Amino acid sequence: MQYVSTRGQVAPKGFIDTVLMGLADDGGLMIPAEIPVISPEALEEWKNLSYEELFQQIFSLYINDEIPAEDLKAMVKRSYASFRTPEVTPVNKINDSLYILELFHGPTFAFKDVALQFMGEFYSYVSKKQNEIIHILGATSGDTGAAAIQGVRGKDGIKICILHPHQKVSKIQELQMTTVNDENVLNLSVKGNFDDCQKVIKDLFADLDFKAKHHLRAINSINFVRILAQTVYYFYAYFHIDAEAQASKKVNISVPSGNFGNIFSGFLAKRMGLPIHKLIIATNENNILERFVRTGEYKPGDFKSTHSPSMDIQVASNFERYLYYLLDENVEKVSEYMKQLQTEGKIVVSPELLARVQNDFAAYGASNDECLKYIGEYNEKYDYLLDPHTACGIAAYQECSEEDEVTITFATAHPAKFDEAIALCMIEQKFPEQISALLTKPQYQQVVDHDQDEIVRELEKFYGDK
Ligand SMILES: *Cc1c(COP(=O)(O)O)cnc(C)c1O
Repeated sequence: MQYVSTRGQVAPKGFIDTVLMGLADDGGLMIPAEIPVISPEALEEWKNLSYEELFQQIFSLYINDEIPAEDLKAMVKRSYASFRTPEVTPVNKINDSLYILELFHGPTFAFKDVALQFMGEFYSYVSKKQNEIIHILGATSGDTGAAAIQGVRGKDGIKICILHPHQKVSKIQELQMTTVNDENVLNLSVKGNFDDCQKVIKDLFADLDFKAKHHLRAINSINFVRILAQTVYYFYAYFHIDAEAQASKKVNISVPSGNFGNIFSGFLAKRMGLPIHKLIIATNENNILERFVRTGEYKPGDFKSTHSPSMDIQVASNFERYLYYLLDENVEKVSEYMKQLQTEGKIVVSPELLARVQNDFAAYGASNDECLKYIGEYNEKYDYLLDPHTACGIAAYQECSEEDEVTITFATAHPAKFDEAIALCMIEQKFPEQISALLTKPQYQQVVDHDQDEIVRELEKFYGDK
């Protein structure tokens, strides 16, 4: 399998080089040159596989011979040994039309662990096998940074530096990042907001000399290895609802969405032949994706702070991947549309294309009030405590699912991680001990100004020979 860029200006690459590159050198995103399709017979055989076995099957279609099967198996095993349940992502039946896939049983209690635990193993493997120096650099609004740090802490050959906006992430998110005291981890707490952090990172990666000199590697959700790791649980979820529902009902999946990474993995799974009926994009009041599915206009709006901060995103960085398929893999057209987004601040698709979008996706954006309403309602009715991101997924299920359908809603975080919203519902929750334990640990972080030069100095100190 070869990988190409959505903008067509990168020579085809293998799997490992694709992951190491991160953002494509032409500014586009890397995608497989063709998507493998699983036959219904093979799908039938996959039904009984464990999570790890399923992972291995799916990856083997994408990694060529670049990683021997035995090595992959060991990496997958180590990746998911840190999860609190052997099922990795258990499926919970709520009622006859609703299942919840719990994606929060990893070390940082949010879905990003599923992909980033593997990504840590992957980088560690590449560092050893290919003698690559790996310096991971990223910005986070909370969940990604915590999961990435947990994915690589203590691993040889890798250093990780994460920028987060000073005092603008949730308390638990901050503690998950800053209570890690491994030598290969640096937390920079930047006096500014998330966009400021993101901008610094973007500028450093855009400086190709700096990027090469310091061996910078990305962890953000535009990395294809994350997308692929996330497809595994779409298959797993589908296989673990009742056999009768699989056989007689249409199966939808509702995904709390921000950067369009998670749901793009669903789009990929569907293209691979998984019989998903509707992929439901659930957003909060930052509803650019919902507006796109309804009207065909993709236009960033005003930023709103909501109860589900990990979905407070205006520009969905993985959207370009979908655009590529919507435009029938026409790289010139993708480049044109992306340029238009830059110059005119929006993309508008034709009515014919909009019809196809609506065939691929349903969408709903939950208001802050609805989010809290569903947390209260589900706690009362089903004795199931939703986190505010998952509550948006539930709102979208309530809105978009029909009579003869069942929906699997993804639970992307554990409610303990976002107690601020739970407390607003007058619900007192018991924290898992791993989270309570964080509250008394010492923190390790460097507070810096939003100043590129100061950040570069800190980085050079961190990368210097030790
Ligand atoms: C990152 C995140 C999301 C959004 O996922 P995308 O892949 O960016 O669409 C949703 N919920 C939680 C809890 C997250 O951490």
